[in-house]
Amino acid sequence: MRYILFATTLTLFTIAAVSALFSPLPSVASGAEIGAGRPVPTPAKKSVKTIRELTFTDGEFDGNAITKTDDEWKKVLTATEFYILRQEGTEKPYSGSLLKNKKKGSYYCSACGLAVFKSDAKYESDTGWPSFFKPIYKKNVTEKVDKNLSEERTEVECARCGGHLGHVFDDGPQPTGLRYCMNSAALKFKSGR
Ligand SMILES: [Zn+2]
Repeated sequence: MRYILFATTLTLFTIAAVSALFSPLPSVASGAEIGAGRPVPTPAKKSVKTIRELTFTDGEFDGNAITKTDDEWKKVLTATEFYILRQEGTEKPYSGSLLKNKKKGSYYCSACGLAVFKSDAKYESDTGWPSFFKPIYKKNVTEKVDKNLSEERTEVECARCGGHLGHVFDDGPQPTGLRYCMNSAALKFKSGR
C-alpha cells in the first residue's frame, strides 16, 4: 500500500514537472505593455514588398529629359505601370485608385516623378478615368497624335521621360474645353496646396 502511494506521488510529480517544462512560456510583452513606450516589434522583412523611391519634381519642366531602356524601366515599374507608361496601355474604366481622389495636391508622372497635373484642374467627367481640364504647366506634357486605333486620338506623355499618361479630348469643361483623360497607374498623388 505504501509503495503504491509512493509510486502514485512520484508519477504525479513527474507529470507536473514535465508539463511545466513543456508548457508555453508566458508572453514577453502584452499589447498594453507595448503601448506603454516599448518599441513596436518590426514585422519580418521578407514578406514586405519593396516600395520604389520616387523623387517628386515640382515646377515647370527644365528640359532635361530622362531616357531609359525597356529593361531599365521594367526594374523600377510595376507590370501595370510598365504596360500603361511604356506600352501605351489603358487601365479599365472605374478601376483606377485616383479616380475619386478629391484631395488638394499635385499629380506626378509615376515613372519619373515630374509634376503633371494639379487637383484644382481635376473634375468628374463620368468617363471612369481621372480627368483634368489642363496640365500643371503646358511644358510638362507632350501631346502627340496617336494613330493606333482607327479613330485618331491625341496622346499625352510626360515631357521628361516620355511615359504615356493618357489622352486629351476636346469635350472638356471651360475654361479650356479640354479633357485630359488619365490613367491612375501613370500618376502618383501627393497632398499639398
Ligand atoms: Zn515622367
